[in-house]
Amino acid sequence: MNRTPLLDLAAQYRGIGGEIQEAMRRVLESGRYILGPEVKALEEEVAAFSGTRHGIGVANGTDALLLTLDAWGIGPGDEVITSPFTFFATAEVISRLGARPVFVDIDPETYLFDVSQLEQKYTPRTRVILPVHIFGQPADLDEVRASAKDRGLKVLEDAAQAIGAEYKGRKVGSFGDAATYSFFPTKNLGGYGDGGMVVTDDEELAERLRSLRVHGRGPQSKYHHIDIGYNSRLDELQAAALRVKLRHLEAWNEARREKARIYDQSLADLPVVTPAVPADRKHIYHLYIIRTRRREELMEHLRERGIATAAYYPVPLHLQEVYRDLGYREGDLPVAEEVSRQAMALPLGPELDQVTQDGVIGAIRDFFLG
Ligand SMILES: *Cc1c(COP(=O)(O)O)cnc(C)c1O
Repeated sequence: MNRTPLLDLAAQYRGIGGEIQEAMRRVLESGRYILGPEVKALEEEVAAFSGTRHGIGVANGTDALLLTLDAWGIGPGDEVITSPFTFFATAEVISRLGARPVFVDIDPETYLFDVSQLEQKYTPRTRVILPVHIFGQPADLDEVRASAKDRGLKVLEDAAQAIGAEYKGRKVGSFGDAATYSFFPTKNLGGYGDGGMVVTDDEELAERLRSLRVHGRGPQSKYHHIDIGYNSRLDELQAAALRVKLRHLEAWNEARREKARIYDQSLADLPVVTPAVPADRKHIYHLYIIRTRRREELMEHLRERGIATAAYYPVPLHLQEVYRDLGYREGDLPVAEEVSRQAMALPLGPELDQVTQDGVIGAIRDFFLG
């Protein structure tokens, strides 16, 4: 039986293997393996791509969030407002610093947190709004920024899934006080291991992050410390590979958009909800998500036909076992809860060929129409 994975990274490598091997060889022969010229070049390239002045490479996307919140002094007694419908790391970093995540319910069409509900979540302890560009679609950035500005709050964009996505004609990453990317292998710009980056226009924040990622090192020397920091460095092999891939990113994102359009059209007459994209946004489809009440049955039907799918996300963050102490109950964020029972990702990537995609579409049509 032929197997259709959610994302075919080996196929991607076959297309760019020569370029990657050349980049790897260059690093291996250079003798510099951590925070060297490749990282510096990648930082500049990703910052330019994002329309920001600074890029700070770190070990992964989780650390990119963590170090930024830490640099802003977020800690016990503080609250950070975010989405309950995201990967756990988004909220985890808030808790890791001793602060409290405050969840806003999501929009049933876009899966973005519902900015009309922000107002009721503010308290005197609110410090940061952390919108997530979930599945590759930009959050409602103008509304978030206006609301934050009124109250003197920081905005941190979690752009782990959305590098290259656009809001009102401009790439995400430059709307917040800072934004973070993940280079986890499956992300739209993914390495061959872990990696992450913060982008920002804020010179002071950039300096602070460059120190925090190397144990709070001071300007004087490697062995003078001005902060309790982290070991969160990006390595040269990842940076060199990511620089190769960055050159392909726009074409890859465009290919994903084209395949998403094919799914949209081919599933339009079925009882499934396909992604809603407001006219002022460019979605990059990190994941192509559909919603159906019959999710478990449909996933099983596809699995039997060798087609991989995945539930995204099966448990909203406010109902995670570890967050019992936050005091949320089932029913508190009803949209996130319902979507968590219904949403699933279909195979999608720049390499997905027409025959394979037709197979997925045919299997879904069979399921609903028999
Ligand atoms: C992947 C991801 C992260 C974490 O990135 P890592 O590189 O895996 O640490 C954070 N937020 C979101 C929304 C993500 O998808």
